[in-house]
Amino acid sequence: MENKVRVRFAPSPTGPLHIGGVRTALFNYLFAKHNGGDFLVRIEDTDQSRFVEGAEEYIRQSLEWAGIVADEAPWNPGDCGPYRQSERKEIYKEYAEQLVKDGLAYYAFDTSEELEEMRERLKAARVNTPQYNSMTRTQMTNSLTLSEEEVKERIESGAPYVIRLKVPKKEEIRLNDMVRGWVMVHSHTIDDKILMKSDGMPTYHLANVVDDHLMGITHVIRGEEWLPSAPLHVLLYKYLGWEDTMPRFAHLPLLLKPDGNGKLSKRDGDKMGFAVFPLEWKDPQSGDISRGFKEDGFLADAFINFLSFLGWNPGDEREFFTLQEL
Ligand code: GLU
Repeated sequence: MENKVRVRFAPSPTGPLHIGGVRTALFNYLFAKHNGGDFLVRIEDTDQSRFVEGAEEYIRQSLEWAGIVADEAPWNPGDCGPYRQSERKEIYKEYAEQLVKDGLAYYAFDTSEELEEMRERLKAARVNTPQYNSMTRTQMTNSLTLSEEEVKERIESGAPYVIRLKVPKKEEIRLNDMVRGWVMVHSHTIDDKILMKSDGMPTYHLANVVDDHLMGITHVIRGEEWLPSAPLHVLLYKYLGWEDTMPRFAHLPLLLKPDGNGKLSKRDGDKMGFAVFPLEWKDPQSGDISRGFKEDGFLADAFINFLSFLGWNPGDEREFFTLQEL
């Protein structure tokens, strides 16, 4: 029997939910309901520097207004919680350390000056696809420059460190995206990405892959801006031994500005008198208020209907669908 479909919407609480975010949530929700599956909401709050007070609550209320109900979320937990990544730090650390033990990741102690120097050197040498890695790993081979003993000493002396993924030098990474079809990337174009930061927080890449696996996610449906990260995620699934249960990916085309020139962003709301937030949002810093669809008098059903007709039509004359019909 096929696994039950499980999908997730994984916003970062870096500001109010934007219309593009509601669309991603809607597509995930509809996909789950259509397939008798579960729709999860996971809050990806590992980047403390971008955290915005009140954003999670705004996301919750916006989804509620739109009728997009989560089967599992921080505010409606199931068995796979906690559903806030900041509350799962120990889990990510364990997997990152396992990767180090398996020789697939390494501790790196570079200062920002050293990294800058390395970038300059690579630029001067006209290396086309430079890997901005670490002094701890030589550029041309897989070998690490510090012995296990030296690494231990540095950690014990309290030196700040990160854990980086040891990206293979020559490998073709492939994935079959449900929207884009086959995508192939050469591993030499990928840096040795940081998995654990010096503040003990995981990066998006590690936390995202670990959680999608542990939460039994079968399909990752998200914005196209994440397509360039997907090969790295595929590599992580492989390194962690989870290739067989890797979710399928569907990267959705973005909502563009009316002139087609770039991605529709929060700022366009003010510029074009075009409300791009579902609900009113008061910026905690400036106190500025942005009106939302609700305050402008739009009904949630109309809003949902409008979103689902962007880039899709039912193939007949019908123009209105309820969430249930969709
Ligand atoms: N936290 C990411 C975002 O806010 C989620 C990307 C993903 O769905 O994997 O866009």
